[in-house]
Amino acid sequence: MKSPGIPEKNELVKKIRAKGISIISEIELAYRFKGDSKIIAVTGSNGKTTTTSLIYHMCKTANKDCAVVGNIGYSFARQVALMPKPLYVAEISSFQLDDIKTFKPDVAVLTNITEDHLDRYDYNIQNYISSKFRITQNQNENDVFIYSLDDETTIKNITNYSIKSTLAPFTMSKQLPQGAYLLNAKMHLKWKNEEMQMNISDFALKGKHNQYNSMAASLAATAVDIRKEKIREALQTFESLEHRMEPVATIKNVEFINDSKATNVNSTWFALESMEKPTILILGGVDKGNDYSLIKELVKEKVKAIVCMGTDNLKIHEAFGDVVSLIVNTVSATEAVNAAFHFAEKGDVVLLSPACASFDLFKNYEDRGNQFKQAVKEL
Ligand code: ADP
Repeated sequence: MKSPGIPEKNELVKKIRAKGISIISEIELAYRFKGDSKIIAVTGSNGKTTTTSLIYHMCKTANKDCAVVGNIGYSFARQVALMPKPLYVAEISSFQLDDIKTFKPDVAVLTNITEDHLDRYDYNIQNYISSKFRITQNQNENDVFIYSLDDETTIKNITNYSIKSTLAPFTMSKQLPQGAYLLNAKMHLKWKNEEMQMNISDFALKGKHNQYNSMAASLAATAVDIRKEKIREALQTFESLEHRMEPVATIKNVEFINDSKATNVNSTWFALESMEKPTILILGGVDKGNDYSLIKELVKEKVKAIVCMGTDNLKIHEAFGDVVSLIVNTVSATEAVNAAFHFAEKGDVVLLSPACASFDLFKNYEDRGNQFKQAVKEL
């Protein structure tokens, strides 16, 4: 059994492969020992942790005896070994899917596919895509596959795989006979004989990306027979996760939001998209080849000042110098928060959504988020 952190390039892995010895992933091992328990498995490039947590919250709200495994909580194998449950909600990376043989989730969720971790897939996006679709590989018509109709890469590729699962799509662009869709600020959920509607303003999780996550989670809950009243209750009571669009405090009518987990431009796009007030954006860190033009329009529309927090901010100045008049450099969370508060007026938002990795100034994104929150508390 290979830990998902070990790449194929590893010498020992190469030797084992060359000898024709079978290698399995940890979720495959756990699967072989799980008995007749059910699995809801969530994969995708963005939104996995949020969607997994939301599904788990729905299951708990409906009093299901279940466990959340993978990134949050125990590994799937440890949970199966120590505290088996009739239902598991699992967050699954593409690395975990690479070495499955029989792993078959009852409900599979693919949130979206964007380029990520390409270094592990010989810089071939097709390999990465195939690994994500592997979540459906052993499913049959009694199993459910939940996916986004609005995700270009998913839709372009879905017909390349022979998927036998019952399909449950979600979208913001049209009405569906089966699945979930958003229309006129209402989520509609249609599954077998169940039908539900809910105003998106009642969702505890804000932002367009979270509306996608909420649709995906609601479909997953429906697929394991959770009643619509419970789904509705869970969508209203879910508490946002740390470092992901996490409300920190409101000081002198200036709101502070910690989205430290946004380590790429795509995540920051969704964060900005959900901003409804003039925004002071804290941006920067270690750039993994960012194309800032993707967020330029949103920055122009919503951002009144940029506070760079990083050791090298040249690219940010070059990208936004002509659309934002106030751009300053800082080299710590305290400096960044003080500068942002200085620029903010009543009714503004200070958003930490850096679009970059954190290791120039911080240990990791959690450390960055925690230092940000601490600095806000000290204002
Ligand atoms: P993952 O576990 O896949 O890394 P998270 O749920 O931890 O995803 O969210 C990480 C960041 O990605 C969030 O801060 C948010 O900005 C962004 N995000 C969340 N859901 C989505 C989505 N459905 N589409 C695009 N971006 C998203």
